[in-house]
Amino acid sequence: MRKSAIAAVAFGALGQLHYSIVLSNNEVAQKLLEIRTLMEMAGESFYKYMAYEKAAASVENAPPLNDLIAAGEHLKLPGIGKSIGAAIEQLVRTGTADQLNALYQRFPPTLLEVLGVSGIGTKTAAMLFAEYGIASLSDLEAAIGAGTLLGVPRLGSKTIDNWKRGILAYKGRQRRTPLPRALAIARQAVAYVEQGPLLQRLAFAGSLRRAEVTVGDIDLVCTSQHAADVIAHFVTWPKAEAVLAEGPTKASIWLPGGLQIDLRVLPDHLYGNLLQHFTGSREHNIKLREYAVRRSLRVSENGILNLETGDVITCTEEAGVYDALGMQFIPPELRSGLDEIDLARAGAIPPLVGLSDLRGDFHMHTTWSDGDDSLEAMIAAAAARGYEYHAISDHSHGRGRRFGMDPSALRRQRGEIEQLGARYGIQTLCASEVDILPDGSLDFDDTVLAELDVVIGSVHTATSQSREVMTARLIRACENPYVTIIGHPTGRRFDGSPGYEFDYDAVFAAAARTGTAVEIDGQAARLDLPAPLARKAKTFGVTFALDSDAHRTGDLAATEFAVGQARRAGLGAGDILNARRLDEVRAFVARKRDTP
Ligand SMILES: [Zn+2]
Ligand SMILES: [Zn+2]
Repeated sequence: MRKSAIAAVAFGALGQLHYSIVLSNNEVAQKLLEIRTLMEMAGESFYKYMAYEKAAASVENAPPLNDLIAAGEHLKLPGIGKSIGAAIEQLVRTGTADQLNALYQRFPPTLLEVLGVSGIGTKTAAMLFAEYGIASLSDLEAAIGAGTLLGVPRLGSKTIDNWKRGILAYKGRQRRTPLPRALAIARQAVAYVEQGPLLQRLAFAGSLRRAEVTVGDIDLVCTSQHAADVIAHFVTWPKAEAVLAEGPTKASIWLPGGLQIDLRVLPDHLYGNLLQHFTGSREHNIKLREYAVRRSLRVSENGILNLETGDVITCTEEAGVYDALGMQFIPPELRSGLDEIDLARAGAIPPLVGLSDLRGDFHMHTTWSDGDDSLEAMIAAAAARGYEYHAISDHSHGRGRRFGMDPSALRRQRGEIEQLGARYGIQTLCASEVDILPDGSLDFDDTVLAELDVVIGSVHTATSQSREVMTARLIRACENPYVTIIGHPTGRRFDGSPGYEFDYDAVFAAAARTGTAVEIDGQAARLDLPAPLARKAKTFGVTFALDSDAHRTGDLAATEFAVGQARRAGLGAGDILNARRLDEVRAFVARKRDTP
């Protein structure tokens, strides 16, 4: 009785606030910058269009606009007056604004692609549009290909060559590569660079190091006394399709399929500064520089300059940069430009969970369901990772899935697990990834569930249910005493599905209240729960499971990606169920089952 009353209250609050939100803060900021750019092309005054640029920065750093507008507080943001405020409200609700539509009457939106090519400014783009009708990237490519622009004053062949490279780079930026794929490529690149001339240190930087779920380009930084030789070796990587830029200390190459790799080489005494600078994020570095300037320090990849004394502090280690600024080291995954600098100044950055904290993995499939490897192979591979325990969690039967297991198969599988025993020196738990049916009930009845050590409840079907129905479905699953973990909670996949909508707050509250863990699924196509939602879930006191959802032995390493997302969410080992000892895991399961 009491449980469903709580769910109903959550629905009530939701019903009043619910209207569709078309654009997020970042998307609104992008549109404001579009307006700014097109106003400049239209010849508006500097002060007029710069107001939009300032408003964009303000929006990026603001709390969710949706909430601000509901409270009428968006007009209190710095740099946002009545007319820009109205545009913001329109953008959030409808995805566009009157100002933007008026500008689109004069300039097609595709003109912004041309401006995305490095070396092409607003004046040049306006000229290309007015005189040659170039209104998109493909128009520009066609004009260059046809030689239309040869002989145009101030457009030498060198400029055109730069534009060609700029077009490639622009296309690369438009396409973001999922983290697991980017990491695999980056590791190949690192292996190649390491074969070359004498390196001192080499590391990933950028979004890859921050464990962003998708990566725009790959940043590598290294130190060497032979920068020119390192660069010469790098640009001749046989996998590269084109060299976008090549200088004495940096170069960019382009891989087939559209991924750019940048390499920067500096002397070793600057390694800490270099790594910090190129790890970003841009937002983090802006905030860090603003903080430093107020202390008369200027931070760059070449060191920290004391503006009063002229002294330069160089850092061989990255922690030295933060130390010199009087703050705690900030792990790369937290450098998002949110509140991490304030936390670091207060010494309040918590220790984050690391891969070595994991004692087990609850989610993996074998040939008993849709996995590629045998039960024994998966057990041996999990043991080889050094785990104390793991769970075999093949799919449940009910939705007629070809690979699902019925209760008798589940019992036979348990027999096989018991027979293998402790041969591989790891405790194998009997589990199942049980479908959460459309009404929130489970695909096995309680007697079957009670035989399992761990139960993962996942939504695989009826994913187009309304937000309200899906919320109730997930809350009901949390309230089932046998569900230990909610698997891949949002259902999003990089290879297609955007996932289903539900009221995150209501479900996280239910998970915390019922002692149900929420999964961060590390499978390459999933990375689900996404880090921002995991950050939110933590505020409700949720416990997390960091799983591989491996379907073959090689994929057990995907827990690395689950850990990366957990770190981005600021989670520590104490938040993670599979960082606990097996007896503690069993107690977690038992506590929920025993709660009346
Ligand atoms: Zn699943
Ligand atoms: Zn699975």
